[in-house]
Amino acid sequence: MTNPFGDGVAFIDDDYCPVAEARIPLLDWGFLRSDANQDTVTVWKGLFFRLDDHLDRFQRNLDKLRMTCPYGRDEQREILMALVRRLDREDAYVQMIGTRGRPPVGVRDPRACVNRYYAFCIPYMSIATPEARARGLHLVVSDICRVPPESVDPTVKHYHWLDFEMGLFQAYDRGGETVVLVDRDGNLTEGPGFNIFRVRDGRLETPAGGVLDGMTRKTVFELCAETNVDCRPTTLPAASLAGSDEVFLSSSAGGIMPVTTVDGRRVGDGAPGPLTTRLDKLYWSKRAAGWHGTPVDVEPAAGDAATS
Ligand code: PLP
Repeated sequence: MTNPFGDGVAFIDDDYCPVAEARIPLLDWGFLRSDANQDTVTVWKGLFFRLDDHLDRFQRNLDKLRMTCPYGRDEQREILMALVRRLDREDAYVQMIGTRGRPPVGVRDPRACVNRYYAFCIPYMSIATPEARARGLHLVVSDICRVPPESVDPTVKHYHWLDFEMGLFQAYDRGGETVVLVDRDGNLTEGPGFNIFRVRDGRLETPAGGVLDGMTRKTVFELCAETNVDCRPTTLPAASLAGSDEVFLSSSAGGIMPVTTVDGRRVGDGAPGPLTTRLDKLYWSKRAAGWHGTPVDVEPAAGDAATS
C-alpha cells in the first residue's frame, strides 16, 4: 500500500495530514503580514542534524518577536519526530513555524492575537540539483538590497522574501540560477535560503552581519576549526567575489554547495574548488557518522497528546 504521507506530512491544529491537504486560516497574520518565524531542520540517514540547536534558535526568535508557542519544547520535539515517522524516509526536510495568529474580529493589536504553531515534513530537498552541485552553481550578484537589519532582524528566520524572489528573477534573466543580495553599502549579504563564503589564499571569509546565523554556516566554522582552516566573518564588498579562488553556499537545504560562475564569469578554474570539495565531503561523512545527530524515535512518546 502506498504511504498517504509519502509526499509530505503537515501538523496543524493538533493533527497530522498529507501536506497537500494542509490549510492555514486566511486571517492568520503569518500570512497577511509575514508575521512569522520558522526554523528548518533536516534528517539524513535517519538522524536529525543539530536538533537542539534548531529548537533553541526557534525559541530565541519567537522570544524576539514576542510570540509564544502553544507547545512546550518536548512536545515540539515529539511533533517533529512524529512527522518524520509518518513520512517514513531516511532523509527529510522539516520546518517548524510560529505565527502571530489571529486577533478577535476588528482588532488590530498584535498583543490580542493567539499565536499558532505549524510544522511540516517533506522528502529532503536541496538548493542545488545533483547536476548543479557537481558542476557548481551559477550565481548572480543582484543590486537589490536585502531588507536592512535596522528594519527586520535578519537573525530571525522570517518570510520577508520579496527581495530574494525578485532577485531570483533578475538572476534567471541574466542566465544565472541563484542570487545573492547586497546591503546598502554594496556589501554581500545572503541569498534565498543560504549563506555565502569565499576562499582566497586558503582562507575562508563570509559576511559578518546582516545575515541569518545559519546552522550550516556555524557548522562550517566548526569544520574549519577542526581542520585548521582560517575562517573569518568580515565585510565583503560584492566585487570581492570576482577575485576569489573559490565560492560556496551553505544551507540546511544542500549543505556546502560550490559556485563556479559569478555574473557569468568563472570562479578560479571554473570547477568546484579543493577546499569547498573537502568541506562538503567532511560535512556529509561526519553527518552520516552521527555528528550532532539525534535518531528519529521509532515509537511515539507515551501519553503525548500531540502525537495521536
Ligand atoms: N540565510 C537565509 C535567508 C535562509 O533562509 C537560510 C536558510 O533557509 C540560510 C541563510 C541558511 O541557514 P541554515 O544553514 O540554518 O539552513
